[in-house]
Parts: sequence; structure tokens; C-alpha cells
Amino acid sequence: MQFAKKISLSSIALAVAICCGGATAADSTATGATAAPASQPWMNAQLGAGQRASLAVQAMTLDEKLKLVFGYMGADVDHKKFKRLPEAHKQSAGLIYGVPRLGIPNLLQADAGLGVASQAGPDVRTGTALPSGMNTAATWDLQTAYAGGAMIGAEARGYGFNVLLAGGVNLMREPRNGRNFEYGGEDPLLAGKMVGAQIRGIQSNRVISTLKHFALNDQETGRTTLNVKIDDHAARLSDLLALQIANEEGKPGSVMCAYNRVNGLYSCESPYLLTEVLKQDWGFKGWVMSDWGATHSTIPAANAGLDQQSGFPFDLADYFGVPLKEAVQNGWVPQARLDDMARRVLYAMFEHGVVDHPVAPAPDKIDFKANAAVSLKDAQEGMVLLKNSGDILPLSKSIKRVAVIGGYADKGVLAGGGSSLVYPAGGNAVPGMEPKSWPGPVMVYPSPPLKAIRERLPKAVVTFHDGSDPAAAAKLAREADVVLVFATQWTAEAQDVPNLSLPNKQDALIAAVAAANRKTVVVLETGGPVTMSWLDKVPAVLEAWYPGTSGGEAIASVLFGEVNPSGHLPATFPVSEAQLPRPVLDGYPEVADRRFDVHYHEGAAVGYKWFDLKGHTPLFPFGHGLSYTRFALADLKAGVKDGVLHAWFSVKNTGKVAGKEVAQVYVSPLTARWEAPRRLAGFQKVEVKPGASVQGAVTVDPRLLADYDSASKTWKVAKGDYKLILAADAAAAANSKAVSTVVHLEAAVYDVNGKPLPR
Ligand code: BGC
Repeated sequence: MQFAKKISLSSIALAVAICCGGATAADSTATGATAAPASQPWMNAQLGAGQRASLAVQAMTLDEKLKLVFGYMGADVDHKKFKRLPEAHKQSAGLIYGVPRLGIPNLLQADAGLGVASQAGPDVRTGTALPSGMNTAATWDLQTAYAGGAMIGAEARGYGFNVLLAGGVNLMREPRNGRNFEYGGEDPLLAGKMVGAQIRGIQSNRVISTLKHFALNDQETGRTTLNVKIDDHAARLSDLLALQIANEEGKPGSVMCAYNRVNGLYSCESPYLLTEVLKQDWGFKGWVMSDWGATHSTIPAANAGLDQQSGFPFDLADYFGVPLKEAVQNGWVPQARLDDMARRVLYAMFEHGVVDHPVAPAPDKIDFKANAAVSLKDAQEGMVLLKNSGDILPLSKSIKRVAVIGGYADKGVLAGGGSSLVYPAGGNAVPGMEPKSWPGPVMVYPSPPLKAIRERLPKAVVTFHDGSDPAAAAKLAREADVVLVFATQWTAEAQDVPNLSLPNKQDALIAAVAAANRKTVVVLETGGPVTMSWLDKVPAVLEAWYPGTSGGEAIASVLFGEVNPSGHLPATFPVSEAQLPRPVLDGYPEVADRRFDVHYHEGAAVGYKWFDLKGHTPLFPFGHGLSYTRFALADLKAGVKDGVLHAWFSVKNTGKVAGKEVAQVYVSPLTARWEAPRRLAGFQKVEVKPGASVQGAVTVDPRLLADYDSASKTWKVAKGDYKLILAADAAAAANSKAVSTVVHLEAAVYDVNGKPLPR
């Protein structure tokens, strides 16, 4: 959050006094948990959340309702002269006062999707960091995503938070986006399912999760000023579909609207996004909170469907404080609208158990050891073996001389920057790197790959060079049997990367080392796709993303074959920026306050769909991922049962070790025209023993077989033939020799949520 603008102190004082009805620490404990008046009807847990919310709203005064719709930052904001309120947890994301008189606790918010994050400052809380969202998406395993969510949700509750600002599912339209590491990649089905599963996991702890950032906040450059241009049709088939699926799967209590404008209006005051799409079309019953600093008005925002202003004082004014009270009293914002805003907040609180099960911090009870194992497993499942010529990997434990080079591999593994940053136990392994302040610090988790490698090679000579001197690193490489080069790309919130090359001359380092020793394995720790000018010169590349607080161990376990890699790319890796819909990033480099349009002319042809449409051959296609064994995909059959398209297939392990394959089913219309030749229609990750074969099956969401009709708000499947393709990645699916079958579909119409309509 970077806001140069100033607000007056009197405005803050007024907001506290009037918005919050003068709530004090006396009538609310530190967590806001109160002696609930059990006899009150809304405290009756037998009633549904909607009824309880309505009953509670009826009992509220105007000021009490206003309290629920106004959020404060949970840490000092020096440049605004704002001090954390005592009820907010230290270095936290936010606080919303509850209504103790009615048994409604405070909402205590922590970032974000990778674990319990902390705002930078003196009192950071430490926690377990999952690997990046990109890594979790690369697992293609819903159970892993759920388990990660359940773990971070439990940590959130353990630290006394009842809202986790997780659920980031902005579609990866832009590989340079600094926040791709928080999200689920470029495909709406994969991203929506994976992030939805994570949200379910979080909320299994009676902690509310958000879904964010709603919508089309797909680059960070100019994120608070840019205007996305896209039509309803393309949006519904792409970014909105990812959000829609994640909403259905995860049922988040809250949705966070985004910083950017969409077709001229700020996301947080867009009636189209907030009321029409989210609340009316999708039937979302929870509340919409703004991103921190993304509220720009009182009347337009409230009437458009924003339910809660977040993170005061990041906005220019306390729009949902005194001004909202005045607007309601004058009828500019209808009383019914304020009631709806409060009811939505309460609905989610009742529905997700935060009223009936108030949080009480108990950090001593958090099982950090078990949580580290969850993070480790996620990292191991999501690492993608991009290249492995001559089966140089897995490494033999009898190798004698290994040179480990670069990437702080002696110290730890990289994390992404910004509000989602989880601070690790043990502190930053490489403190002091620039930028030290927002969106820094640059964090290296103290889980050094070098240590984990040495532990596996007790008799070998394992040397390390930090890579700062390519000639010296090459000399070391020359003397080794195998070289492991670690390369990092730090990405962060609020800034995009200028291009997809590795920074700090690491491409040249890798080239120099590879020239010295052909047996060079590259381990990448990147936020998302990078280009690889040196690819032909190295036999193996492992994409380890940001692998979380157990990352070093996870990398070593995969390099040595204790874990067979099974991650598959959730995003296309381009050969160069020239292959992208926008070879040059709009608005880059950022100029403060400059307003500009980002025209998503590619429409819904995002990622591999764009590459297919344009006939571009990527460096590595969406879905790609190698294993230490080989698989054969076969026996694809498809049929329609009760109006639902099913596909069945077999996956055979033709190699020598057990492994997991991600079977991907793509669909291509033979007569109808879509945004692109193919869409991912289903996927299943299966574990197969050597020589064995397993049966797999997917059902296909009708929206993935349909075109969206904006006028009637329906998904229409055109009568005709459709080719189903079973493949191990999107490029293989484009090959005419891929395993495929053709199904005939009758015309069918589905409602806006993909539910069948009578014909
Ligand atoms: C981010 C959100 C985050 C919020 C609170 C904003 O800068 O965009 O994702 O939840 O800050 O820290």
C-alpha cells in the first residue's frame, strides 16, 4: 500500500468517535469476544445465518450498523500519523469493531493466502509460509490446496484472527505481474478450483476467507489508476469465470474489490461488478470489502454494492464513517442499503462460525512442526521439472563433487514481497537487501538448500559459490561432477518486473557455469514464468517457485529423487515478451497518478489460449511437467450422462519408479467458434505404480463447453461435434496425434451459473 495522499487527523478522530459508537476496550475484550446474550434470538445457532443476521440487524442502532461497515488498518501508518487501535492485533491488516452489546465480536484481519502475514515493523509475528500460490496451483491437486488452506486457517485462528485476506485468484494475463506468485495461474478452471479448495480449507477453521481481487487487477503497474477495458463476454469467460468457480468451490465469506478501474469505474464502485455480477448473478450472500485504499466515495460506492470500507486511513477520507451516516440520514444511501451492508457482514460471521466460536489467541498451541510438513508437501507436489535431458536427475547419492552456485542457496529460499509476506521463525536469512521497505523486505526463508544437499551427501565434497563472480563460479563448476545453479527472481506487490529475464545478470552466470560444465542443473525460484536464453546449454531445469518455509528441504528431496516431481505448469512460459498479447507492459515504468487504459484486446484468449490462437510455440507450455518415470495416456472415452459430459481414460506408468501424472482433458469445438481453439475441460492427478495402470475420470462443467451470451445471461452449448483430447500439456493437446475422441452434443442452455435451463 503506497499512498502519498494526506488526510486530516480530525477526520480520523471523527471516524473513530462516530463510526464506532465510541467502542472501548472496556466493552470488548482484546479479541472482541464477549459474553454473548444467549437468550437473544440471533444467538440461536439452530437458525440459519440469514435469519440470524436479519434479527441482529433489527436490534441495531444506526451507529452500530455503521461500525460494521468501517474497517481500520491494523498497524501504525506513519505517513498518515495513524496509530494502531488497541483492539487490533499488532502489525495486522485490519480491525472492524463488532457490537459487544449484541454478542457480535470484532473482525480481526490478517493477510493473506500463503500464511499469517505481518505488516513490516517492530512486532512482526512469525508463521508458517506455504509455497507460492503459483506452486500450489502447479500441484493440480485439490487436496493439497485444501490442506494448505486448512493449515494457514488454523494458524490464523491460533493467532486470534477470524478473517484471512486470502483467496487471490486474479488470472495470469500478464507474466510480468508482480503478484502472480499469490495467484493460481492462467486458466479459469484450474485457478478457480485450486483457490476455491484453499478457501474451503481456511474456512474449515471457522475463519472467514476473502476471495480477491475483484476484478481484473492483473498488473501492478498503475494498479490504483489504470482502467481495464474488456467486454462482458470476454470477462465472463476469463477472469470472472475464475472468480466465479472459486466462489462456488470455496464459498468465501467476503469478496475484496480491487484497486483498478474496469470500463471507466473503480472496481469498488462498479454496480456492474459488485451488484450485478457478484450479488445478483452469482447470488453471493457475504460482504464486499474494499482493498486497502480502494474506496473512493461514499454514495456511489455504497449504492454500487460496496459493503465495507477497509484499512482506514489508506483512503482519502472516511467515506463509510461520518459521510455515510449523513448520506443515510438524508436518504442518499437508502436505509435499506445500509441494513443490507450490515446484514451481509453478519451473515458471513454467523455462517462461518466466528460469532458462535469467538477467536482467542493461543499461539502456544499452534503445531508448527505439523504445519511445516504441510508446507513441505505442497512444495514437493508443486515443483515442476521443466527439462531433464539424459536423465541427469535425480542425483545419485554416490556423486563425489558437487558445486552449488548462487541464489542464496547457502542461506535459504526466496519469498515474494508485499502484504502477503509471512515472516519466518528464525528471521530473514539474508537481511538488508533492497528494497528494505515496502514492498520489501526481500525475504529469504532460513531453509537452505545447501544444507539439505550436504545432508544427503555426507561423503561428497559440496562446495558453494554465491555467483557474484561468474568466472570464479565457472572455475568451481569445472572441478565438479555435477553443478547446481540456483537462480532467483524477486517479485512483489505494487510493482511488476520490467521483463522476464532473470535479474542481476543471472542469465550470464548460468551461461558461464554451463559452458564450464555440461552437467549443470538449474533450480529456479521465481514468481512466475521467466525466459531462459541458456536453456539449450543445460540438461536440467527445476522450477521451484517460492517454495515456502520448508523450501530447501523440498528442493533437495526432489533433486535426489526421494520425491518424484509431479508439478505441472499453471502458466505458459513464453520464449520472449514478443509472444505476449502486450509485448510492452502498459504504463511501465510507473509514473505516480498517471491514468491510462489497459485494453485486454486478447479478450478471453488468456495464456495458452492466446498461444494456440496465434500459433506461437512457447518455451514451456501450460500443463507441462516431467517426472522421473514415464506415463502413457490412453483409452479416452466420453459420453453424456444425465446431461453431463464425462470423460474416462487410463494412465499407465511405463517407467521404473512410482509417480504422479496430471491427466489433462482439453476440449475443442469442431464447428462452433470459441475465443481459442481449445480449453482445459478437466484434470485429474493420479498416482501410479511402475508397470501399473489406473483409470481416471473427469466431468466437464457445461460452461467450458459453451459460449456466454451477455444479452440473455446464459451459457449456450451449440449443437455439434466436440473433440476431447487427453494430453499431458496444452502443446501436446494441439498435436493431431494426441489421444482424442469426438462427442456429439445437443444444443443446451445453462443459466449464468452453469445450471441447466429448460429448453
Ligand atoms: C493488498 C491486499 C491486502 C491488503 C491488506 C493491499 O495492498 O492489495 O491484497 O489484503 O493490502 O494488507
